[in-house]
Amino acid sequence: MSHCILNANSKVEGLSGYAAIISEIVSMLMEKEIAIIQLPCPEMTVYGIKRWGHVREQFDTPFFREKCREIIKPIIYQLIDYVKNGYKIIGIIGIDGSPSCGVSKTCSGDWGGELSANINDAKEKLSTAAFINKSGIFIEEITKLLNSNHLSMPIAAIDEIDVVSSINNIKQLFVKILMNDMKSGRG
Ligand code: SF4
Repeated sequence: MSHCILNANSKVEGLSGYAAIISEIVSMLMEKEIAIIQLPCPEMTVYGIKRWGHVREQFDTPFFREKCREIIKPIIYQLIDYVKNGYKIIGIIGIDGSPSCGVSKTCSGDWGGELSANINDAKEKLSTAAFINKSGIFIEEITKLLNSNHLSMPIAAIDEIDVVSSINNIKQLFVKILMNDMKSGRG
């Protein structure tokens, strides 16, 4: 699961809508005896805790994408080994709305430049920021690496604007996967 689900401190300062951990999702997984791998936080890795909130376009650079691949590769290698040894990977949980970890929703816009240069320009640019139906850069790179390693798994997301219903959706998805496994005698 995305790093900040288990560590709200990694989020852009002031942006977290919860304290420390999204405990509802952790409790749900514990109840179902599903173990957790915490993915690295690409924004914390590259920009640190004092970063501003960004849009997808600002992270869409060859360097950021390369960093995403670099930090996720050790996890991909672990997944390959788990699958090879008969373990079931239930899925990945990202964060909808994030320019990095968004799954089907990310933040996009013509945002950038020097804030102090012309505050009206900055405000105008900021007003272009909006959610669009697309993955964030980190999730895009994860998906490419999963595909190139023939790993197939659902990628669900917690939507920060509606945490409760996204947890319910994830719960239903995971229960469905577990039920299918029990029917087919796996898991
Ligand atoms: S959504 Fe992704 S990039 Fe943003 S804080 Fe969480 S783990 Fe880091």
